[in-house]
Amino acid sequence: MIVGVGALGCVSADLLVRAGVGTVTIVDRDLVEISNLHRQGLYCEADAIEKKPKAVAARDRLRVVNSDVDVRAHIADFTSENALSLIEDGGVPDVVIDGTDNFETRYLINDCSVKLGVPYVYGGAIATQGSAAVFVPGGGGPCLRCVQPDPPKPGTQATCESAGVVGAVSSIIGSYQAAEAMKVLMGQMDRVMGSMLSFDLWEGQRTRVDLSDAKDPECPCCGNGEFAFLEALGAPPQVLCGQRAVQVSGGSTMIDLERLGAGLEGFEVKEYMIRGTVEHGGEAFELTCFADGRAIVDGTDDVGVARAVYSRYIGI
Ligand SMILES: [Zn+2]
Repeated sequence: MIVGVGALGCVSADLLVRAGVGTVTIVDRDLVEISNLHRQGLYCEADAIEKKPKAVAARDRLRVVNSDVDVRAHIADFTSENALSLIEDGGVPDVVIDGTDNFETRYLINDCSVKLGVPYVYGGAIATQGSAAVFVPGGGGPCLRCVQPDPPKPGTQATCESAGVVGAVSSIIGSYQAAEAMKVLMGQMDRVMGSMLSFDLWEGQRTRVDLSDAKDPECPCCGNGEFAFLEALGAPPQVLCGQRAVQVSGGSTMIDLERLGAGLEGFEVKEYMIRGTVEHGGEAFELTCFADGRAIVDGTDDVGVARAVYSRYIGI
């Protein structure tokens, strides 16, 4: 399973599908944007113009890359509410790859990894730097929370919005992740990297931190079996990285897109989403809504405005 098919997920998904792994399940919440194309190699300009969900664009591309691989896609935000059902859908995967761009989701993946005993291939890339590591539950090594007990506070880290990402950095990190996943899939656990590798491509620097003794017996997650991120309440609305758009989470019920779309003038209705232009407070916004009730309000970075647009037009 690959959570997030942005810069990192595009690289590892492409390599693993070309290598012929049996099944790849991808989960992504975003739409393809022109600003993604320098680093997200599964997408093209047409996907961005159409604003396709990345999960759909990636699935379609991967299926033509290698039709022998069973590629499954979920257009969804990976949250505490749906994480376990997404992971367990179709059988627990042999490995989970982190293609996310935020720490909340990484800690949630870590909880799932420890709870279900699935190795977690961590990755991160920002500006000219990137890191990769593998956390294997039950193997005597650490989990993510042993190494870094809590996520960094919001606003303290550079994001792809504030700092950008050099495509070559995410290509390297995604390649490392694909190689580590292949080792896990082939059962070569003795070859799996026991370190956190970090690069700065601009400075030509590489560092390796040995994690073999990093397991913390007092770790709340892998030591005490507390899954705080899985038990957390649903995500508040959030501004999407690199875009003037806000994501509003839906309720826990699926919605009838055809019915909702038919009641909204000028809305385009597809099997997996509806989209159209709406007006609120004298301004126009583009509203995209998915079957799980989640919506993306394009044209604002104000969470309050996005929530108001959501309740006015989706109304749940
Ligand atoms: Zn731990």
